Amino acid sequence: MTRIFSGVKPTGHLTLGNYLGAVRQWVAADQAPEDALFCVVDLHALTIEHDPARVRRLSREAATLLLAAGLSPEKCTLFVQSHVDEHTRLAYLLECTATDGELRRMIQYKEKAAAAQAAGAGVRLSLLTYPVLMAADILAYDTDEVPVGEDQRQHVELTRDLAVRFNQRYGPTFAVPKVTLPAVAARVMDLQDPTSKMGKSGDAGAGVVFMLDEPGVVRKKVMRAVTDSGDGGVVYDRAARPGVANLLDVLGACTGADPVVLAEGYGGYGALKRDVADAVVELLRPVRERHAELAADPGAVEKVLRAGAERARGLARPVVDRAYRAIGL
Ligand code: ADP
Repeated sequence: MTRIFSGVKPTGHLTLGNYLGAVRQWVAADQAPEDALFCVVDLHALTIEHDPARVRRLSREAATLLLAAGLSPEKCTLFVQSHVDEHTRLAYLLECTATDGELRRMIQYKEKAAAAQAAGAGVRLSLLTYPVLMAADILAYDTDEVPVGEDQRQHVELTRDLAVRFNQRYGPTFAVPKVTLPAVAARVMDLQDPTSKMGKSGDAGAGVVFMLDEPGVVRKKVMRAVTDSGDGGVVYDRAARPGVANLLDVLGACTGADPVVLAEGYGGYGALKRDVADAVVELLRPVRERHAELAADPGAVEKVLRAGAERARGLARPVVDRAYRAIGL
């Protein structure tokens, strides 16, 4: 059976980008006969300035939202990263496998380190080592496939490199995972700045659709989306017309249609935006409704997370023990 692992960081409310780029694929995998683990990666939320109470609250919110999106605790393993010590134990061994140079080359590190410096905050050492902890998250479960959005591809490639290197030096220890990306909307862009990805903390939310936004808020954000200048009509061109291409990608991801073909059906931006807003509202409606039901019973979510951590620990421990022995401990 194919083993799948993926995670989400509780650094903010989950976005439409998280949903289309990752969560929707997770729900689909959960329906298939595959063995899937999904993790709220709270340790990764500590790599930038954070508020302890907020991280704890957002972890529970993310777990609740994943269940609301359709993950079933009977079929998959849903847990919180910090509940399973094996991740940090394995991360250290992988830190002894990775080099400083390859971590400094990570695009996300460069961007986030620059942002931390610009804000006058120090760059936490954990921001540099975060991809190694992510590699440990993945390798601890003999993972075959990692369904993520485009922005995480480089980190999964690093994970593969570390697994191969460790196996070559110390003997076969880890499964070498491969990345899987969604066919459409692997990188949903910010509606106000379509040259940046839609992220949890993007421009105070004006260009970011959150999964729990009310329908009226979703409509307002989509209708105010920045489109491209020029009167070339609605064409799909990611490089020259990123704003329109992003709307077409979102509509394509919601409806299953090809964004290039969709473009041919529109004479102007207004009609396109209205259709995007309708499609996103309908896509998120059941998730928002189910979230409200689940949030009313936080004890039930805690129970799912406790059981998930128990199972995850049982899977990770033999893999991490194997790595300890292989490396000479
Ligand atoms: P972020 O804090 O940027 O949302 P996460 O690591 O929590 O990052 O993201 C969880 C998953 O959502 C990852 O698989 C990531 O690739 C995906 N994702 C995040 N933002 C986007 C986006 N704008 N478009 C597509 N996928 C995204």
